[in-house]
Amino acid sequence: MTDANGVPMTDQEIVSDVLVVGAGPTGLMLANWLTKLGVRTTVIDAKRGPTRESRALVVQARSMEIYDQLGIVDEVLAQCAQARWLAPGFDSRTFGRIPIGELGKGLTPYPRIYVLEQSRNEQILLDSLRRLGGDVRWEHRLTSLGTSGTSVEAAVSGPDGDVTLRARYCVGTDGSSSAVRTMRGIPFEGITNEQTFYVTDATEARGLVPEAVNARPAERDFLLAFPMGPHGHYRLIGVVRDADQDGQLTEDDTRERLRQVFAVAYGPSRWFATYRIHHRVAAAFRDGPFFLAGDAAHVHSPVGAQGMNTGLQDAHNLAFKLADVLRGRASDASLDRYEAERRPVARRLVRTTDRLFGAVTSERRLLRAARRWVPPLIAPVVVRFVPRVSGASRLFGYVSQIRVHYWMSEQAAARGRRGRVVGRRLPWTGSNFDVLKRLTWQIHAYGSVDSDTVERLKRELRADVHVFPPANPDTGLRDRLLYLVRPDGFVAAAATPQAATVAFGRALPDRFLTVPPAQSAEPASPRPD
Ligand SMILES: Cc1cc2nc3c(=O)[nH]c(=O)nc-3n(C[C@H](O)[C@H](O)[C@H](O)COP(=O)(O)OP(=O)(O)OC[C@H]3O[C@@H](n4cnc5c(N)ncnc54)[C@H](O)[C@@H]3O)c2cc1C
Repeated sequence: MTDANGVPMTDQEIVSDVLVVGAGPTGLMLANWLTKLGVRTTVIDAKRGPTRESRALVVQARSMEIYDQLGIVDEVLAQCAQARWLAPGFDSRTFGRIPIGELGKGLTPYPRIYVLEQSRNEQILLDSLRRLGGDVRWEHRLTSLGTSGTSVEAAVSGPDGDVTLRARYCVGTDGSSSAVRTMRGIPFEGITNEQTFYVTDATEARGLVPEAVNARPAERDFLLAFPMGPHGHYRLIGVVRDADQDGQLTEDDTRERLRQVFAVAYGPSRWFATYRIHHRVAAAFRDGPFFLAGDAAHVHSPVGAQGMNTGLQDAHNLAFKLADVLRGRASDASLDRYEAERRPVARRLVRTTDRLFGAVTSERRLLRAARRWVPPLIAPVVVRFVPRVSGASRLFGYVSQIRVHYWMSEQAAARGRRGRVVGRRLPWTGSNFDVLKRLTWQIHAYGSVDSDTVERLKRELRADVHVFPPANPDTGLRDRLLYLVRPDGFVAAAATPQAATVAFGRALPDRFLTVPPAQSAEPASPRPD
């Protein structure tokens, strides 16, 4: 007997290639990609269905690009609101609006800030998974985890009793209190902040700049408001003091403080929650056949709207690596690249959000004074000049996660100089992203390349070769170089046509090699960028 994923199943035992524990955004994204790539996948979640709470709400450009590659971006676009302005302010004052509608124009097909709450992202991902032929086993909680021979073995309690799940690999996408992480004894290193954060999905909000992300520090409080659609629907997040000092931060406390400090009021709320902020990264993202991704691997403050997006990208990264290994194209050791690539991203993110969070919430006198005096002084200038400076699009690159960089080899990491192209997501030229939907390793040329070279590379490397018109120099793509692009859209290597067989052969998974690099007499590639 097999289940909807084609996974063998008896009453007590289910066998698959990958067991995904947790069907939040990270687990659902991973399950989508694994299923699309033909990997037999079992997904379990302790909950009864996708989350109903809105929770994370900004989908960054890089996640939109991945949704596009997966074929669901139109559904996301149809449902999301867009933030057209950034409205800086201080307590009850606002200092005008900075247009952010198309801050990423020319950098990505998705140049805006897309607002779509987590619950709707999860529903879209679940619908997509079902269309691909997969599903989630809801109400299945992981209770113990181990190995048996070459398999992972998991005990799970479900609505019809206990089940044993066996798989070659197991990925813990089970959130910040990850059972997989705990059961594997992987430390979750970092700190928990003292402050309590609140989140409110407010309707009929007043006192905010419409269609804008409102950012309002105050001397002791802090407010970020994201537009979520018509009828004054806003996500309000921030830190407020416990006004009545009873140790509980209730919605009434928050309402009162928002009114007093920020002159912001709202009608009924759809959701109110408080939570403590953690800044933590798992000591390892891989432990043999076990992996961690999403909040199970890293948590930080919601300042910057990066949490859900980082999890989505962990999943995208890991899925292609697992698929390559499970299809026999790459060795098990190549899976170490997942931690090598994604853990530094998480560490940097946690460091940055920790600093930012400290700056906006610290009780230290100097920082409180800075919060009191600096924004009113600089905000009016910033509002006038930021749209005209090139740094704005660079900032967009960081926040939207399209500037993420991976070291593609130990030698590159030792050299320590990041290139503009290699190790990054392929720069967008306006015409070069559609071919990524083929989900293959591919070689790109931008400009002229003779047909003999194309045929030789196709034959020797058995990879697709795509030739595009010359790219805008701002992209960093040069016409005298060829680029090896991974299925996840990252550039693995660059080389001249003469050096490409050797340079790309080293970077490709083993299966593709027909000319072992050691046997080739071709010269090594020059430093590409
Ligand atoms: C109140 C709140 C507000 C937030 N607001 C924001 C925000 O504004 N912006 C932002 O970027 N981020 C925000 N976040 C963080 C964001 O929600 C997370 O980054 C995101 O949910 C991470 O997704 P994930 O799939 O990795 O984990 P989760 O969404 O936590 O999913 C984990 C899943 O694993 C399941 N699970 C757990 N244990 C087990 C088990 N033993 N067996 C089986 N299943 C299990 C859970 O049921 C859950 O479905 C917020 C989080 C909270 C709690």
